[in-house]
Amino acid sequence: MDHNNQAKFRRILLKLSGESFTHPGERGISMDQVLRAARQIVRAHNMGCEVGVVIGGGNILRGSQFISTDNNSVINPASAHYMGMLATVINGLALSDAIESLGVTVRLMSAIRMDGICEPYIRRRAKRHLEKGRVIIMAAGTGRPYVTTDTAAASYALEIEAEVLMKATKVDGVYSDDPNKNPHAVLYSELDYTTVLEQNLRFMDSTAISHCMEHKLPIMVFNYQKEGNVERAVGGEKIGTWIGSRPAVVARP
Ligand code: UDP
Repeated sequence: MDHNNQAKFRRILLKLSGESFTHPGERGISMDQVLRAARQIVRAHNMGCEVGVVIGGGNILRGSQFISTDNNSVINPASAHYMGMLATVINGLALSDAIESLGVTVRLMSAIRMDGICEPYIRRRAKRHLEKGRVIIMAAGTGRPYVTTDTAAASYALEIEAEVLMKATKVDGVYSDDPNKNPHAVLYSELDYTTVLEQNLRFMDSTAISHCMEHKLPIMVFNYQKEGNVERAVGGEKIGTWIGSRPAVVARP
C-alpha cells in the first residue's frame, strides 16, 4: 500500500458513534453511511496514519434503554449493557467489510471472545496489526458493563499508544452550551481537561475524560458529517476542538 505521508499523527484512535452508521433520526445500519465512514478511514490510512477505531452501538441499542430507574426492569442491567456491547460487534462487522471492500486490510477485534466472527483483543497483536498497515476495529467496548464506548476509546487509545483520541461527532466541536438550544453557545477551538470537567461539557462521558486527563492524552472533537474532516484532522488542520492541558480558547466565528 502506497502512503502519501501527509499525516501529522503516526497513530490515532478514532471513536465513531453508532449513529454515524445510520441516517439522522433513523436506527439500524445504512450501508451507504457505513461506506462513507469507511472511505474516510481509508483516506486517513492512505495518508500514512495507523488507524484504530472504536465503534459504538447506539444506532442499534444502548443498555440504558432497558434499565428503569425504579429497579423494575425485566432485563438485568448488566445483561442490558452486554446487549449494547453486542450491538457494537454488529457495527464492527459492517465497518470491517466496508473497509475491506475499499482494498484495505482490516482486523475486527473484540473485548468479548467471539471466535469465528472476530479476533480476541490482545494488545500486542493489535499493535502488530497496526505496524503491518492494517486498520483495527475494536468492538464490544471494554467488555465490561456500566460504561460506554467512550471509556473504551480512551483506554484503547492509551493501550495502543495513539497520539490522539479523535472523537467524531455530529456537531463542529465542543460548545459552551448545546448549540441546538442556545444560539449564543460559543465553539471552543482549545480546551483544557479541567474546564471540561468543571463546566460539565458533555461530549464524552466523564470517566473517559478523566482517563485522558490523567494520562495527558489529547482529544480532538470534530464533525464527521463534513466530508473530508477525518483527513483534515489526521493532516493536522485545526478543526473542531482540541482538548489538552492548555487553557480554553474560543474559536473565531
Ligand atoms: N457498553 C458497555 N460497556 C462498554 C461499552 C459499551 O456496557 O465498555 C454498552 C452500554 O450499554 C452502551 C452500549 O454498549 O450504551 C453501546 O455503546 P455506546 O452507548 O457507547 O454507543 P454510542 O453512543 O457510541 O453509539
